[in-house]
Amino acid sequence: ENKQKSQETICVKKQQIYQQKSQAEKIKFMVKKAVINQDFLIYYQPQINIKTNKIEGVEALLRWHHPEFGSIAPNQFIPWVEKLDLVIPLTEWFIEKVARQHQAWRASDFSFIPISINLSSHQLQAPTLLSILNQNFLSIGLEGNLLIVEITEKTLQENPQNVFRLLHELKQLGIKACIDDFGSGTTSARHLQQFPFTQVKIAQSLLQNLEKYPEEISMIAAVIALGHTFKLKVIAEGVETENQLDILRKLDCDMIQGYVFSKPLNEIEATQFLSFYSDDQNKS
Ligand code: C2E
Ligand code: MG
Ligand code: MG
Ligand code: MG
Repeated sequence: ENKQKSQETICVKKQQIYQQKSQAEKIKFMVKKAVINQDFLIYYQPQINIKTNKIEGVEALLRWHHPEFGSIAPNQFIPWVEKLDLVIPLTEWFIEKVARQHQAWRASDFSFIPISINLSSHQLQAPTLLSILNQNFLSIGLEGNLLIVEITEKTLQENPQNVFRLLHELKQLGIKACIDDFGSGTTSARHLQQFPFTQVKIAQSLLQNLEKYPEEISMIAAVIALGHTFKLKVIAEGVETENQLDILRKLDCDMIQGYVFSKPLNEIEATQFLSFYSDDQNKS
């Protein structure tokens, strides 16, 4: 009887492995199809200067709304894109799309608006990255300094030499750089000095702990002071409450991004947000 039971367990386990495998195959297939069909969307989240209350940038964020499974987070599908070796076509599509949006905004009233884009380790290693950026942004006359490349602390840790070289190459093109999710890992403060960053983004996790552990305020204060020491603009993201906003204002943070002002918006909503804000700005 015992033998039969263990055989049953083996059977169940095999079935589970099979299901997991076929699920993975299914995801792979879906991701491949989505990249080929360009089923992704780009959302833009406004960044507000909390000293002037003006909108001073937007961050482009990748979105995938699957007809059957709904919206799938970028952190979930980007690793699959990487496993499938589809980073280059996705990056090309993404950069071209952002450049077009940038051009459209430039043609209207928002010629000033800088756009931040996120690049993963894999994307940074794409041999065609610089030429894609050149072709799409610089060849159509968009100033490099209106483009900001965000690189997470984690990516920097995984690949310091590569990131160092790339950021210098981008700098030559006038493109700026931001270290994203700073304070979530264990980057050395030295990185802020040694790498050519112009901005630092405080990790969302630091803000989330703020309401629970008020002593986290000094952590944030330290990151802001550190950023300012190296002449970097400091951005806090994931700001959800007025209370967090108040604290950040008192701590002399420069910019914020978060639900308290706006969620990431689709192209149409983002354009409306920009025109609302620039009308406001013109009036004041
Ligand atoms: P990230 O670059 O740190 O982006 C910030 C994330 O915080 C975004 O999530 C944004 O929607 C979310 N967020 C903004 N405000 C709030 C808030 O007030 N509260 C909360 N709880 N969340 C807020 P999203 O769009 O899901 O992106 C997650 C991560 O996926 C990004 O983190 C980035 O690392 C990655 N990602 C997104 N788009 C791209 C892309 O085009 N390329 C690459 N390589 N990575 C991307
Ligand atoms: Mg999300
Ligand atoms: Mg980012
Ligand atoms: Mg971040």
